[in-house]
Amino acid sequence: MLGLMQEWPLVCHKIIDYAARQHPNREVVSRSIEGPITRSTWREVRARSLKVAQLLAREGFQPGDRIATLAWNTGRHLEAWFGIMGMGGVYHTLNPRLFPDQIAWIMNHASDRAIFTDLTFMPLVEKLAPAVESLRKVIVLTDAAHMPETALPNVVAYEEWLTEADGDFEWADVGEKAACGMCYTSGTTGDPKGVLYSHRSNVLHAMMSCMPDAMGIGARDVVLPVVPMFHANAWGLGQSGPMIGAKMVMPGGKMDGESIYELLDTEKVTFTAAVPTVWLMLLQYLEQTGNKLPHLEKVVIGGSACPRAMTEAFEKVYGVEVIHAWGMTEMSPLGSLCTMKPEYAAFTGNDLFDIKQKQGAAPFGVEMKITDDDDAELPWDGKTFGRLKVRGPAVAASYYGGDGADQFDAAGWFDTGDVAHIDENGYMQITDRSKDVIKSGGEWISSIDLENLAVGHPDVAEAAVIGLPHEKWGERPLLIVVAREGRTPSGSDILSFMEGKVASWWMPDDVTFVDEIPHTATGKIKKTALREQFEGYKLPG
Ligand code: ADP
Repeated sequence: MLGLMQEWPLVCHKIIDYAARQHPNREVVSRSIEGPITRSTWREVRARSLKVAQLLAREGFQPGDRIATLAWNTGRHLEAWFGIMGMGGVYHTLNPRLFPDQIAWIMNHASDRAIFTDLTFMPLVEKLAPAVESLRKVIVLTDAAHMPETALPNVVAYEEWLTEADGDFEWADVGEKAACGMCYTSGTTGDPKGVLYSHRSNVLHAMMSCMPDAMGIGARDVVLPVVPMFHANAWGLGQSGPMIGAKMVMPGGKMDGESIYELLDTEKVTFTAAVPTVWLMLLQYLEQTGNKLPHLEKVVIGGSACPRAMTEAFEKVYGVEVIHAWGMTEMSPLGSLCTMKPEYAAFTGNDLFDIKQKQGAAPFGVEMKITDDDDAELPWDGKTFGRLKVRGPAVAASYYGGDGADQFDAAGWFDTGDVAHIDENGYMQITDRSKDVIKSGGEWISSIDLENLAVGHPDVAEAAVIGLPHEKWGERPLLIVVAREGRTPSGSDILSFMEGKVASWWMPDDVTFVDEIPHTATGKIKKTALREQFEGYKLPG
C-alpha cells in the first residue's frame, strides 16, 4: 500500500523560493571582486537567479548542460548556481588553484558549454576557452564599466546581460533525480574524477548539515563560508544558508587574516567554516593585533586534520566553539562532525580536546564502517583502524563517465581511501589516507598523528610525515618540518618533545627541515611530491 502524502520533489529551486518568501530581506553581503562590499537580499538573489535561468534557456542551453563556474564566493556566484540549477542545468565548479592544463582537461571531460567567471580569472579563461571545444559563452561576473578588453568571442558582462531579462520564468521541472551540480576531485593520483550531484542529494545534504548536532545553524546566524564554493560546494553552505534563511557573508577573493577579520567583525558573523590553513592566517593576525572575536560562536574546521593547538587557541583564547569535520567531494561533502553527544558533553580541558581531535560522528544520512584488507568489518573500539567506507543519499554512487568503478561495491559502499578508527560512541578519527599510512613491521603507523604531534611544538609551523623504504621494517617514518619564522629548532628538540606521547616504535627515524611543504589545490599536504623529493633519502642506522 502506498502512502497518501504529497509528491513534493526535493529540488534546489525550492530552497531559494523558500528563502525569498520566508526571509526576503535577510542580507547576502559580498566582498566584491571590484573592491567594495555589496549588499543584496534573498529576495533579490532569487529574482536575479530567475533572470539567469531565463537567459540561459532563451540562448538555447538545455537541461543537463554543464555550465562551469570559475569564481570566488560572492552573491553573484550564488545567483549563477541557482539560475543554472533552475533552468535544469548543472553548475560545474572549477578550482582555479589547479594548473590551466588540468582545468581544460576537466572542462573537456565534462563538456562544459558556458562559463561564469570573475574578473580575476579572465586571463586564465582566455587560455582555457580555445582549448575547450564545447564552450559557447563566457559570462563575466561584473558590470559593463569594469569589463576588460578581450579578444574572446561571446563574452558578456553579467550585469549588462541581466538587463536583457525580466525574470518571468518558471523553474524547469526536471525532477529530483536530475543532476544539478558537478565537482571534480583534485586527483592527487590519476586523472580527476567527476562527482555529479542531484537536486535530491543537495537538498537532503543541506537538511542534514543544518541539524543541531551537525553545523547547527539557523535564521539568527550570520554565516561566512570562507571555504570556496569550488571546494566541495562550500561544504553545502550555498544551499543550507538559504534553506534556513541565514544572513550570508561572502568573502570574495580575499582570505588573508585581516580581510576575514574585517568581515567577522563588521558583519557580526556568528558561524564560519574553512580549512586549517585559513585559520592559521587568522590566528596569526589576531595574535599580532590583539583583536578578539566577540561575535563569532562556531567555526567548522575540516578538509585536513585540525591541529590541536588550533582548537585550543579558538576555544581558550577567543571563546569560539570548534567543530572538527570530515568529508569528501564524493559526499557532498559532509561525512562527520565532532559535536558532543551526551557521553562526552561534560568533558572539559584536555579530555575535551582529546575528543575534538577526532573527526566526529556521522549525522543521519551517512552510514560508516571500517574494514580490513579482506573487507571484513572491524570493531568500533577507538583503536583498531581500517579502511573507511560510507554510503548514504548524498554519497556518490559512481563517478561521471564510470571512472574509478573499483571504489564502489555492490552493496553500495564507497571506499573513501581514508584509514580510520571509530570509538564505541561512534566518533571516527582519521589516521591516514590509505596511500599514506606507514606500514612498519606489518603494523600501521598513522602519519597524521605524528604530524599533529609535531606541530604542537612551539617552533614548528608545519609538519609532514612520509614512509621511506626500510630493509628490516618495510617502511619507517621521516618527519619533514617547516620551522616557524625566526625559530631554529633542532631535530632532537622536536623528537624529545614527541617522546612518550606515541608508541616508541612510531617515533620518526629522522627529522629534516625544508622552507616549504608542497600543497594540493585543496590545501592538503602533497605527499606524492614529498615522496619524490625524498626518494633515496638515507635514514640513520
Ligand atoms: P580532494 O582534495 O582529493 O579533492 P576532498 O577535498 O574531497 O578531496 O578531500 C577529501 C579528503 O580530505 C578526505 O578523504 C580526507 O582524506 C581529507 N580530509 C577531509 N577532512 C579531514 C579532516 N578533518 N581530517 C583529516 N583529513 C580530512
